[in-house]
Amino acid sequence: MSAFCITENVALAPRTTLELGGNAEHFVEATDDAHVVEAIRFAEAKRLPITVLGGGSNVLVSDRGVRGVVVAMRSRGVSKKDDGHNVCFELTAGESWDDFVANAVGEGLSGVETLSGIPGLVGATPIQNVGAYGSEIADTLERVTALDRLTKSTVTFSRAECEFRYRDSMFKRTPDRYVVLRVTFRLSRTKPGAPRYAELQRALAARSATPSVADIRETVLTLRRSKSMVIDANDPNRRSAGSFFLNPIVSKQEAARIASTHDGLPQFEQEDGRVKLAAAWLIEKSGITKGMRRGHVGVSTNHALALVHHGGGRAEELLLFAREIRAAVQSRFGVTLVPEPVLLGFDSSAL
Ligand SMILES: Cc1cc2nc3c(=O)[nH]c(=O)nc-3n(C[C@H](O)[C@H](O)[C@H](O)COP(=O)(O)OP(=O)(O)OC[C@H]3O[C@@H](n4cnc5c(N)ncnc54)[C@H](O)[C@@H]3O)c2cc1C
Repeated sequence: MSAFCITENVALAPRTTLELGGNAEHFVEATDDAHVVEAIRFAEAKRLPITVLGGGSNVLVSDRGVRGVVVAMRSRGVSKKDDGHNVCFELTAGESWDDFVANAVGEGLSGVETLSGIPGLVGATPIQNVGAYGSEIADTLERVTALDRLTKSTVTFSRAECEFRYRDSMFKRTPDRYVVLRVTFRLSRTKPGAPRYAELQRALAARSATPSVADIRETVLTLRRSKSMVIDANDPNRRSAGSFFLNPIVSKQEAARIASTHDGLPQFEQEDGRVKLAAAWLIEKSGITKGMRRGHVGVSTNHALALVHHGGGRAEELLLFAREIRAAVQSRFGVTLVPEPVLLGFDSSAL
């Protein structure tokens, strides 16, 4: 167990994939649950806000930095229970998500293979119900153990209690309440089901009639690389937070209104009857093209939904460009895009 240590004025840009923004006023690397409690007590004694950081792959940090205490979740540990059919893994928050997926696939277990290549740490996955290629962590998540910041006690939430929705959860809606400490996933020894995502189905069909979990992982990684959606030190689009905007979900009437004047509008009907639109399509049809640049920031050359930092830039530049894109989509379609990354150190009205 490493000693609890709070440092001051710690640069956050190198701890995020966008590599933008200023310093944390106070910074702690929490390698166990007790460190998280100590950090909360420290912040409370000084009446400072707390911000939890995982791998920094879904945040945009303000140039002014983040006031208060930034707690970086760095606890490591995996335990495993195998009943012959299913295998339950309990992972601590600081474990790498994609290492877990790679190991599970290596053991031939199914359930998370389509979520291959997503950066970040396990503790962040329930926050926005991480998802890709037709799956989301809500499909395999059994429970979340979190620290309740109010009571300083640990609480366990079932999948239903996490209230997962598209890129959303109870944790995301109550950002100042819980710190995720451990997450349990139930994976299966049975063969993977047919992927639900058309692009993945097509790519897999070219590879194998009966794809294994390893085939699915490799195919997903190939697709993701082609869109700069894996972290690759040699990729000029590497400094991003993945998709910068959520796919908007609108009413059936709203989707019909837009479709009546825009041929080819991609529409995905949701269980509740509403319709998910493709933010990347809306952005491109609003005149924002892949590779477009504004100073040190721009749109990825491989994906219209990813905003990238080309180095030497400021968070404010990225935010300005994001506002420009949002205004273009709003004016063309009457749809308001919502950012996917969490904005740290900004006013609530920043975007
Ligand atoms: C190239 C690229 C591709 C991506 N592709 C996808 C994708 O396909 N699908 C997808 O869903 N996301 C994707 N993302 C976004 C991101 O990787 C995920 O959201 C990931 O789960 C974030 O993990 P993180 O550890 O980096 O979290 P961070 O960015 O550090 O934090 C994100 C949020 O979670 C909170 N948080 C983090 N850890 C905890 C904790 N232990 N307890 C409480 N709150 C916590 C933070 O306060 C913050 O609000 C992508 C990002 C990049 C850069």
